[in-house]
Amino acid sequence: MNEKYANRFWNYVDKSTPTECWLWKASTRGGYGQFWCGKNVFAHRLSFYLANGYWPETVDHLCRNKLCVNPAHLEGVSVRENVQRYMRTEYPIVLKPRKQYRRGLKLSIDEPETIRSLFEQGMTQREIAQKFGIHQTTVSKIVLRRRWRP
Ligand SMILES: [Zn+2]
Repeated sequence: MNEKYANRFWNYVDKSTPTECWLWKASTRGGYGQFWCGKNVFAHRLSFYLANGYWPETVDHLCRNKLCVNPAHLEGVSVRENVQRYMRTEYPIVLKPRKQYRRGLKLSIDEPETIRSLFEQGMTQREIAQKFGIHQTTVSKIVLRRRWRP
């Protein structure tokens, strides 16, 4: 990580106070901030790296605010631990009422983005399929960004 990128990174962050959430002001993917530094990285992951000097398997938001990049609110955790936290439904995912499902698919409109984020955060397709009660091939299509209509 070169310093030029690090300096640019913090220009996109709204640092309020040391204890509050620092919100990402630039582009996002799947609800998370993203930053270009030779490749696209998640802003919260880069913030964690700049503060701690290593890339953990996944970075968990203790504040549950996906756009927050305050290192004090980020914890590096294993994929296993992150999935377990997810299973304890600490993530604010709300399944839509049944009537919004179409063509027999059990996903609501915004879930494909959630699924892609989980996959990018390190959850396996099998774990995601189990979590959402859908077939692994559906997860595969979604993460490979094939056209998917709710
Ligand atoms: Zn926060």
